Order: sequence, then C-alpha cells, then structure tokens
Amino acid sequence: MNDTDNVWDCLIVGGGPAGLTAATYLRRFHRRCIVVDAGQSRARWIAESNNCPGFPDGIRGRRLLERLHEQAAAFGVPVERGRVDGILREGDLFVASAGARQWRSHTVILASGITDQLPPYAWVDRAIAARALRLCAICDAYEATDAHIGVYGPFASIVPHARFLTTFSARISLLPTDEADETARQSARQDGLQVLPRGELDFDGERLVHRSRSGEATRLDAVYACLGSNTAAALVTALGARAESGEIEIDRCQMTAAGGVYAIGDVVSGLNQIAVAFGHAAIAASHIHAGLPLAPRRGSA
Ligand SMILES: Cc1cc2nc3c(=O)[nH]c(=O)nc-3n(C[C@H](O)[C@H](O)[C@H](O)COP(=O)(O)OP(=O)(O)OC[C@H]3O[C@@H](n4cnc5c(N)ncnc54)[C@H](O)[C@@H]3O)c2cc1C
Repeated sequence: MNDTDNVWDCLIVGGGPAGLTAATYLRRFHRRCIVVDAGQSRARWIAESNNCPGFPDGIRGRRLLERLHEQAAAFGVPVERGRVDGILREGDLFVASAGARQWRSHTVILASGITDQLPPYAWVDRAIAARALRLCAICDAYEATDAHIGVYGPFASIVPHARFLTTFSARISLLPTDEADETARQSARQDGLQVLPRGELDFDGERLVHRSRSGEATRLDAVYACLGSNTAAALVTALGARAESGEIEIDRCQMTAAGGVYAIGDVVSGLNQIAVAFGHAAIAASHIHAGLPLAPRRGSA
C-alpha cells in the first residue's frame, strides 16, 4: 500500500506506552491507525518498574515495551520507524512528514513523550541501568528507602525534589550545579538537607561518587538528576495547540486547542507515569472513535 494514497483514521506520533496503548484501543474499535515511532521511549531506561499495575514482581521497561508491541501487533497495528518532523493541515486532513515520507489522517495523537536532559558524563547509560542514577522519584524512590540519596541539578530545582524525598530517607544531599546564596543554603539545611559543595560526579561501576573541588569524596546510593527535559510539542503548537514549557494543555478528552489533535502520556502537562499514559490513551482513543463517522459494519461490502 502506498502511504501517500492512504488516509488513516488516526496517525499516532510515538510508540511508547501511551502511543501503543492508543493504537490497540483504536484497532479494537476497527479504526485504521498507524504508529510512527523514533524508538527512544523513556521506558527503555527502566531497569525494573515496581509500580506498574499488574506486575507484582516488577517488569523491565524494555520487556513492557515488547509486550505492548505484541499486543498492538495482535490487532494489526502497523508501526513504522521514523521521526515525524512536521504536521500540516490540508483541508479536513492532517499531513505528517518524516523526511520524504508522508501520512494523511483524519486525526492525530501526539504521544512523543519527553527527552530528559542528562548529566554530561559518558557513563550515564550504565549508571541508569545500575539504578545509581535516577530520573523519576515518584517511580522508584521507594526502592531507595533509608538510603543516602543525592539530588543533582540547579539549586532552585533540586530543593523541592529533595524535600519530596525526605519521606523516604533522612540522608538527602543536594549536589548543586550552580551557586546558591547563603540564605537558600541555610534554609535547606534547616530542612535537614545536606548541601555538598560544587564538584564532579563519577560512577564506580555500582554507585555514583561526588568529588568536591577540594577532593572530598561522597559515595551515594542513588542520585536523582533534575536537569529538565525537551519535548516535540512544537509539532502541534504549529497547528494551534497550547503548551507551557513544552508540556501540552489538553481538555478532559485529551484534545488540544487544535481540533482533531490529541496529546497523551508524558508530553502532556501532569504526572509522568506509565499508568497515566495508559489512561490518557484509553480516553483519547475512545473520544476519537466516537467523533469519527461510523466504521463500516463488519461483513458489509
Ligand atoms: C529511568 C526511568 C524510570 C522510570 N520508571 C518508571 C516506573 O517505575 N513507573 C512508571 O510509571 N513510570 C516510570 N518512568 C516513566 C515512564 O517511562 C514514562 O512515564 C512513560 O514511558 C511515558 O510514556 P509515553 O508513551 O508518553 O512516552 P515515551 O515512553 O517516552 O515514548 C515516546 C515515544 O515517542 C517517540 N517520539 C518522540 N518524538 C517523536 C517524533 N517526532 N516522531 C516519532 N516518534 C517520536 C520517542 O522516540 C518514543 O519512542 C520512568 C522513566 C525513566 C526515565
């Protein structure tokens, strides 16, 4: 089938937990949808998720993605590898492109997630795999209960994260990447947070080690990086969707301010969690199905 001759009921940009779940729902409504995915789901970083509903023994992020792909494939969802670089309106349709390839659709779901800013070290991948470097306290702070936890990033960003982590441990160290005034440092200390001087991080194969400029080393059980993130929101703000700091605003049906354009999962403002991505996907897919002309009855000519 030639993509350019084809009009899909829905084009889904992104094949992480949100996009794959939406695709499965739409196919189970007998809708024609396609997923275009750049293959960089945040879930690939998850060494083991222990809060994903239905997996009491935990599940690796890559295994979860495999299972979601298997489920979507079982209902005939096509998944193409590619990075969508533009979406335009053409009459009643949307036309999305990835280089020379194009897809035409009646609706669009943006499920493109976020891209974490990471510390500037070559060992970052290995440290995340070892759960020494972490990116989501809501996801896995439970597994760091009573551990020595570091929080790395600009001072103003790490203090609220560190306060959240005091539920889990009494040993929280701030690892600021910038200077903070003495009043802010004093306030943090009064909250029981240790403020380490600016320095470098190193990974010893198991844990992260903070080295101050004077050479003092502090080994930490887990370090949360709070450096912010980027999103592909511009793909849909160009169509009229609204976003703040890269996070898209949606209504109760997951529709953006651009009619026919939906956003689900981490790219939406709110809680970045797999369970939330699943919920967004179910709501968006059901609303899209209800809004499209009735699908031809099965067996009709
Ligand atoms: C280290 C770590 C541990 C985590 N642990 C947990 C946990 O235990 N429990 C939990 O609930 N959550 C956890 N999370 C969060 C969870 O991974 C995310 O909430 C979830 O992956 C969001 O799903 P999504 O589909 O919205 O985005 P993603 O999974 O990030 O998928 C988005 C997809 O869209 C693709 N994409 C982006 N732009 C484009 C484009 N222009 N064209 C085509 N494709 C595009 C990306 O490459 C990617 O494949 C963790 C995250 C990290 C980083």
